[in-house]
Amino acid sequence: MQQDCIFCNIVSGKISSAIVHQDDQCIAIRDINPQAPTHILVLPKDHIPTLNDLTPQQVPVISHLAQVAIGLAHKEGIASKGYRVAINCGEEGGQAVAHLHLHLIGGRNLSGSLG
Ligand code: AMP
Ligand code: ZN
Repeated sequence: MQQDCIFCNIVSGKISSAIVHQDDQCIAIRDINPQAPTHILVLPKDHIPTLNDLTPQQVPVISHLAQVAIGLAHKEGIASKGYRVAINCGEEGGQAVAHLHLHLIGGRNLSGSLG
């Protein structure tokens, strides 16, 4: 846990959020500034700053985040129509919060929109 990390503070419960899923490895929360009717962030409980920092041992974490995102897409009713899963990495990748997270975005037509 990194004291000054907003997502670590959400994981520990110090900062409240709308949690839609929680397990031993990750939590999923509704994005505070949603870009679509469904906009959920799936984040590992461990503080991994960016995708670049992922060690070979931590690579399975990504599979788990993806699996949770797929389950949530079904739960949100957006799985059949389609949705976007994105991980921003670093400054030019548009990453604002330095704690690895996967965006699950859907519920509207995202064709042609990137970012
Ligand atoms: P990124 O630009 O990929 O780092 O995405 C960070 C996301 O975190 C943005 O979509 C923000 O709207 C979202 N966000 C920031 N603070 C919070 C918060 N306290 N609760 C939920 N989502 C947040
Ligand atoms: Zn963190």
